[in-house]
Amino acid sequence: MKKLVIILSITCIAFFNVSAASSAYHDDKTKRGDDKKSKAKRDDTTKFVINTENIFDEEEEIPDTNQILFPSHDLYASWDTLMAHPYHFYESFKMDSVVIQLVNEGDGGFVMPFKGGLTSVFGWRKYRPHYGTDIDVETGDQIVSAFDGMVRLAKYCQGYGNCVIVRHNNGLETVYAHLSKLLVEPGQKLTAGDLLGLGGNTGRSRGSHLHLEFRYLGQALDTEDFIDYEKGELKTNNFTLRKIDVENKYDLRALHSRHKKDIGYARAGSKGGKYSGVAKGGIYRVRSGDSLGKIAKRNHTTVKALCKKNKIKENTILRLGQKLKI
Ligand SMILES: [Zn+2]
Repeated sequence: MKKLVIILSITCIAFFNVSAASSAYHDDKTKRGDDKKSKAKRDDTTKFVINTENIFDEEEEIPDTNQILFPSHDLYASWDTLMAHPYHFYESFKMDSVVIQLVNEGDGGFVMPFKGGLTSVFGWRKYRPHYGTDIDVETGDQIVSAFDGMVRLAKYCQGYGNCVIVRHNNGLETVYAHLSKLLVEPGQKLTAGDLLGLGGNTGRSRGSHLHLEFRYLGQALDTEDFIDYEKGELKTNNFTLRKIDVENKYDLRALHSRHKKDIGYARAGSKGGKYSGVAKGGIYRVRSGDSLGKIAKRNHTTVKALCKKNKIKENTILRLGQKLKI
């Protein structure tokens, strides 16, 4: 039997201190090149020497204790205290559906972040998506965490204003925006109902309100599918998230561009309708009256480039409906 002596360096103290853990994660990134310093820390055996027998095989990798503390870490695999939305749903979500168990026995359950009337709902606004639900608040009203969790981000963000994002064990992240005051820090553990900030009117906001979002792997979901706002309670404890629902209901930008595309084709087909003649998603569909010159001009490219990309000649006769790479 081999004995393994694991020497915990001073940096590992962060393991026992949640708030230090998040900053340590960033320090790691910024000070990666500082080998001398970290070697000195590694060699400091005076602080902690733990003699463990048969805990790890020699071959086995010792887990990164800085990272496994964060809620739903297996799902997200990273913890970012600076960027509001670094996660990409479609890259991470490889299943058709998942059942999200919102609250578990023994945890703090669900608490309404603020009990107030709704002033705006999830959906496409005139020029941009609205990924949250707006709740009427007065500046200074107390805003609390919806579930147990850990603060991932608490800072001013463009658009959101003063914003808190909490990561939960159920896999969700909740976003609380336009706050007048932030009362928590990244890494701080919260129980459902714990105060996290005061309502306000910061960022892109007209009149004080709370902008509340529920996100899963970065994808915003409609909070009204989770919360019965009249009763102030969850509609269900087991929420089934299907990929097809994301595509057809929650991915507002994709839905909007699909809608615009439909309108574009409908207009182009109707008499006197306008058609921009610009490619969507890098593909252009040839319409009546088109020439390579016109297509190139509208799409800010050249006939030569078009010919090369599509393996055609300048005098090739275009077919209606033909797809061209732009
Ligand atoms: Zn809003």
